[in-house]
Amino acid sequence: MHTHSAFSADGISPLPRMLEKAREKGIFYYGVSEHFDYDYLVNGIPFYGGEAATYTDPDAYFSCARKLAAEYAGKTQVLVGGEFGYTDCPKAWQMYRDLEEKYCPDFVVNSVHTDGKYDFSDEEGRPFRRPDGGLRPKKEAYGDYFALVRRSLDAPYAYDIVGHMTYCTRYAPYADKRAVWADFRAEIDGILCGIIARHKILEVNSSSYGAPSDFLPDADILRRYYELGGRAVSYASDAHDVSRVADKREKVVSALKRMGFSYLTVPCRGAHIRVDI
Ligand SMILES: [Zn+2]
Ligand SMILES: [Zn+2]
Repeated sequence: MHTHSAFSADGISPLPRMLEKAREKGIFYYGVSEHFDYDYLVNGIPFYGGEAATYTDPDAYFSCARKLAAEYAGKTQVLVGGEFGYTDCPKAWQMYRDLEEKYCPDFVVNSVHTDGKYDFSDEEGRPFRRPDGGLRPKKEAYGDYFALVRRSLDAPYAYDIVGHMTYCTRYAPYADKRAVWADFRAEIDGILCGIIARHKILEVNSSSYGAPSDFLPDADILRRYYELGGRAVSYASDAHDVSRVADKREKVVSALKRMGFSYLTVPCRGAHIRVDI
């Protein structure tokens, strides 16, 4: 339920190749969620390593993806969506609302990639540093990240999935990068209860390069979500090229089953489809 193609600035494989791969792998529901990172735009954040900003062209993407979805109908159900980069800025919210009104995405992944000033993947690690360059305590830097994710739940535009929670851990400069529930109980419970109360979906993202676990968020947070009554989870490879389509899906599914989850949730135009696992 969360993949990219060459329509995204950091995507590699063309969309038709991604869909061929999905079909080859026997995937029935395949969600495309190109980047619409207007948070970078409104906050003036250097885009993906400082390259000249190129944003997904919504006209080109939605028309091509809808056409391909029609061609795949009956074989693979292609859901045409987007990944929105959350920021506190109302200008970005309006841009996302306009996009939704014009293109009616089948689903939206709402994700936090930046601290409002810098991407968490920033080469100098600035979200984790003080102005004098000293390292911020993990409790403080992760605390800010969780507070932002908590605020993203109240985004005033439609979204379905809370993307890659604990994303900041992938790039954190700490010896122990984990964001465990025991250390951030109030922050994490606030987010998990917020997801449940709003009938949103917690994503399990297998794109974990640099992360201290095989998927994000880690098992202890997913177990806590289950304990609190959360049942809506989605699987995301977050693939940007064909080699990662459905990557670690079986690993994620087995882990979820061990925790008690019995289905994945696929959002489509506001409805939640349950896929048994
Ligand atoms: Zn993302
Ligand atoms: Zn993504």
